[in-house]
Amino acid sequence: MRSRKPLVASRPTADAAESAPVIQRGTGLGEEVYQAIFAQLMALKAPPGARITVDGLAREFNVSQTPVREALSRLESEGLVIKTHLVGYSAAPQISPQRFTELYELRLLLEPDAAAKAAATMTDTVLQELTEAAGMMSRAGGADERARYSQFAREDAAFHDKVVAVAGNEMIRETLAHQHTHFHIFRLMYHSRVTEEALDEHEAILAAFTSGDADAAAKAMRVHIENSRDRLLPAFE
Ligand SMILES: [Zn+2]
Repeated sequence: MRSRKPLVASRPTADAAESAPVIQRGTGLGEEVYQAIFAQLMALKAPPGARITVDGLAREFNVSQTPVREALSRLESEGLVIKTHLVGYSAAPQISPQRFTELYELRLLLEPDAAAKAAATMTDTVLQELTEAAGMMSRAGGADERARYSQFAREDAAFHDKVVAVAGNEMIRETLAHQHTHFHIFRLMYHSRVTEEALDEHEAILAAFTSGDADAAAKAMRVHIENSRDRLLPAFE
């Protein structure tokens, strides 16, 4: 059930919108099916409220219904699809403007402080892991636009989760992880600008980590989260 008007700037680029991903049979089929449906949801090929049928996906990917059902169960646990009794699956509605505002308030309370703490305890090993998690690989071309976008959403989730983990407060980490923040915010708008600018900001955060500057890390994280919010706000206009 669509409860909102179509989002501005939600149109995928032409080449990303067309070709269905090809699912390779073999090991990791379940994971591949999951990733393919995840990418469709993130890039709004399956827009909020759209019906999703097990049969339709199984045919589209030329697989049996089992991996599709497994993938949809996992996506349901991540809040990206909703299962309705006797109706079946649909893409979850977008988060409301209210929820969006609350989410960013929560992040601004918790994440700059976590970044400061992480900077203060930074080691070469952790810095290396954070750099790998920060999504810089998404910048390299190659993968199709939609796959790259959903990959960045996942990397962004991992990067922010890791910063909070390094800061060492497990309850804050669980609280943020439970919101599946990144999946929902990246689904608001499908646009390459979202990832390009976010990557620049991740670089600034990593630079502060490299110099072990807690204040700079907190500031860079705050700027990143505020910019992320402002980039996505037009989705509600
Ligand atoms: Zn980020």
